[in-house]
Amino acid sequence: MKMRHNAPLLHIEGYVYPTVVNGPGRRVLVAVRGCSLKCPGCVNEDLWDRTGGGRYIDPSDLVDLILAETGLSIEEAAEVGITISGAEPMDQAASLFILLAKAQMTFKNVIVFTGYTLEEISEDPTKLACMEWLDAAATGRYDQGWKAAKGLKGSNNQEIIKNEYYQSLDIVELENFPHLTEIHPNGLTTGFPPEENDDVSLHSV
Ligand code: SF4
Repeated sequence: MKMRHNAPLLHIEGYVYPTVVNGPGRRVLVAVRGCSLKCPGCVNEDLWDRTGGGRYIDPSDLVDLILAETGLSIEEAAEVGITISGAEPMDQAASLFILLAKAQMTFKNVIVFTGYTLEEISEDPTKLACMEWLDAAATGRYDQGWKAAKGLKGSNNQEIIKNEYYQSLDIVELENFPHLTEIHPNGLTTGFPPEENDDVSLHSV
């Protein structure tokens, strides 16, 4: 059933499926467009700009579109996770909220990568509402001087937050998640670059 909402269209770059380098298990990765935070050394700088590229989609339609295009059945989707990355998903928090609600009801678990800290998220009711639909989030700005060698984060200052309401993810597994990259059939790369090689554009789909 289609949801009713007043959120703007969600500006995404695209999605890939399957991926195994953006969180535990087989997952869908959605990359949104636009980031106002602009961390020095960001590997996704090509997605900062919202004046072009990607596509605009009703956030309540995106999950159904992914299922239709990947051929995943509802039963199969329940065994697959989804990660929302990009550039910065929380910059489109009203639309993200709609997407996350549907994603949480469809997929095994939901992870979001955001550059906002939990303190900043807590000060914004719309961003904070998004957290209710997440199993886990990686939060905080990327610090290129403190690169992480493992874990679901790019730098060690970032914090992985698990929503205790949901039980399908293990915080120890998230903290130790290996850093690997994938090149997808369309030639694009996603994942976390190994420490010795950050010369790669990530989550570009
Ligand atoms: S690391 Fe994330 S928050 Fe920072 S500039 Fe890149 S996309 Fe934005």
